[in-house]
Amino acid sequence: PRTGHRLPEWLKRPLPAGNGNNFTAHLIEDLRLETVCESARCPNRPECWSRRTATFMIMGNYCTRTCSFCSVPKGSPEALEADEPARLAEAATRLGLKHVVITSVTRDDLPDGGADHFVRCIGAVRDRLPAAAVEVLTPDFMGDNAAIDAVTDARPEVFNHNLETVPRLHRIVRGRALYARSLALLERVKQRAPQVVTKAGLMLGIGETRDELFDVFADLRSINCDVLTLGQYLAPTAKHIPVARFVPPEEFDEIAALARLIGFKQVVAGPYVRSSYHADDMVPH
Ligand code: SF4
Ligand code: SF4
Repeated sequence: PRTGHRLPEWLKRPLPAGNGNNFTAHLIEDLRLETVCESARCPNRPECWSRRTATFMIMGNYCTRTCSFCSVPKGSPEALEADEPARLAEAATRLGLKHVVITSVTRDDLPDGGADHFVRCIGAVRDRLPAAAVEVLTPDFMGDNAAIDAVTDARPEVFNHNLETVPRLHRIVRGRALYARSLALLERVKQRAPQVVTKAGLMLGIGETRDELFDVFADLRSINCDVLTLGQYLAPTAKHIPVARFVPPEEFDEIAALARLIGFKQVVAGPYVRSSYHADDMVPH
């Protein structure tokens, strides 16, 4: 990632050995799937793909929103592919996944925001891999309760929705997303299906203050959000919003310890943490 800064030592890592990365790359290509690992230029891709894990990104590679931190391509959305759920389930099977993470671009052009397609993908994975846990990382569905309920009722083990940053920075970072709308989504999921683990992620180093961060944690706990992920923001290119600060690993540890004190069941924090990073280790199955 280009940040306009020199990367601190803790953000430099050796490439993993082995051929797992090629295996995963070929499989994704073969099955014509998109991954957020590639589209968001995730710095963990060599590591995750070597472990034969990936996060599938459904409903095409073009997003209808233009968040200033995100490198997923913006443009005219593509037609939904009826066989995508089956291809995704095939990939999860060939990778031998025990925990399948499904995310998507935001599809504000679709009447249900793509909720039905999420449901189909969850169903296809359930059919092929009944023992696997399914985690969805969804867009906000424009706050459409019917869409949120449909995905909740498909009973993913984990319902993940990222807040990304503190309310003050929402407009410049998340474009059309609204802080209150995202919180309401997570609240609704928990109320409707208390057994579904709710999970939210934020990026640090965009310019938030410690107080603002803890206000967000309190908001998340007030709606019984179970899992919190915190990672360092890295600008994907020079055109994206710049990094304000590199947060040292010790500070991540300190913030995580404080967040645990206010009741999150799990807090995963560190410079390289992304909301799908080691998702299989996070939540008890
Ligand atoms: Fe993909 Fe998530 Fe790993 Fe990044 S952290 S490479 S998005 S699975
Ligand atoms: Fe990226 Fe999601 Fe924003 Fe689309 S809505 S630009 S995929 S963060």
